[in-house]
Amino acid sequence: MTHSPSLADIAAKLEAYDPQALPVSEVLKFLDLLLEPVQDSESVDIFAALGRVTSQDVISPINVPPHDNSAMDGYAFDGTALNKTQALSLKVVGTALAGKAWQGEVHEGECVKIMTGAIMPQGLNTVVPQELCKMTAEDAIEIPAGLLQVGDNRRLCGEDIMQGKAALSKGGLITPAAAGLLASLGVPTVSVFRRLRVAYFSTGDEILSLGEPPREGAVYDSNRYTVHGMLQSLGCEMVDMGVVKDDPILLEQAFNQAAEKADAIITSGGVSVGEADFTKAMMKKLGDVVFWKIAMRPGRPMAVGRIQKGNRSAILFGLPGNPVAVMVTFLAFVKPALLKMMGTSAGPSPMLRAKTLEVLRKKPGRTEYQRGIVSRNVNGELEVVTTGNQGSGVLSSMVQANALIVLSHQQSTAQVGDWVDVLMF
Ligand code: AMP
Ligand code: MG
Repeated sequence: MTHSPSLADIAAKLEAYDPQALPVSEVLKFLDLLLEPVQDSESVDIFAALGRVTSQDVISPINVPPHDNSAMDGYAFDGTALNKTQALSLKVVGTALAGKAWQGEVHEGECVKIMTGAIMPQGLNTVVPQELCKMTAEDAIEIPAGLLQVGDNRRLCGEDIMQGKAALSKGGLITPAAAGLLASLGVPTVSVFRRLRVAYFSTGDEILSLGEPPREGAVYDSNRYTVHGMLQSLGCEMVDMGVVKDDPILLEQAFNQAAEKADAIITSGGVSVGEADFTKAMMKKLGDVVFWKIAMRPGRPMAVGRIQKGNRSAILFGLPGNPVAVMVTFLAFVKPALLKMMGTSAGPSPMLRAKTLEVLRKKPGRTEYQRGIVSRNVNGELEVVTTGNQGSGVLSSMVQANALIVLSHQQSTAQVGDWVDVLMF
């Protein structure tokens, strides 16, 4: 972190850098140049690893499955004896159970009754499912012609994971499936990047904490709760610093405390133009910070920077105050930024396309994020309506929505029936 480029260096590298009308794509490029993944890793138990990010490839110590085995309950036999036009008659000489290999020898014209998961007996390579063959005597079956090919219903040793190969790659998120895969290797722990520590607080004299009595002109703090929820779903370690009043001493204390322990600091409020408060001034005083007007709606003003404290530094995301703008800027910028800092190599979630059932008024030259309700129509197509009032303070629009309708920078008004991008929550 010691040789990190200054924000001015980064800005100079961008072609379309205009802090007064910064396109969303430039914000993303800027953040990508600014941010570095955490370095430290730790070994954790698989149960504790859910939602964490692998810090190295996980090389499999074994083959999964460890032996060729049967995918069906049936009879194992040598499939090279199959004939396209003639039924195959076989004598049943034994039984192979899951977890108990059958040791005997199988000769031409013989087969072994086998259960799902049981090891394939020596020399056998094909399984006929029970329901496809005819019992012709107590110890004899007949396989009708033309039903099977060599190798059918046999799972090969290592077909899921090969010994010595990467079962999980570095930078992957440990999902329930990945946790199960690790367990299938017999590996009880996994090396993951350390958790990202994120401190957050709300700013503004008019912001009430829960429990305070209402007063004229004041609103309850909702941003800390939406930010908390979004950070939790990313698996961050959180430092909740409450509401900080518009007072230079309190703000300085809060920023310093946050920078001492966190990798990232998220604030809301106090970054708009003409804001008569100390938040911007304090950000500027304590760190290398840029203030942007982003070409987007909602969420135009935003501050980004690096606050140095001793020999460590924290990335600052100064989000706007309006509750919807906070959520939208978080989803659009902070989430991908934090994912990069967490060490993930996954790209952003793919957007889907839905047919709009409403006219969506839009001017080219900014990206708009409208709150949408996406459903499937009788033809199987996705369609979308807005939640109504799209004001940047109308948090109920985020509650009703199941997606953001993303109208790109260049796009103009979308007519009824036009296909638009939607980002599902
Ligand atoms: P600001 O960006 O500080 O001018 O705030 C814009 C609007 O968002 C104002 O109406 C604020 O009252 C409102 N706001 C700011 N912070 C919060 C918060 N933590 N919770 C709810 N509303 C907020
Ligand atoms: Mg304010």
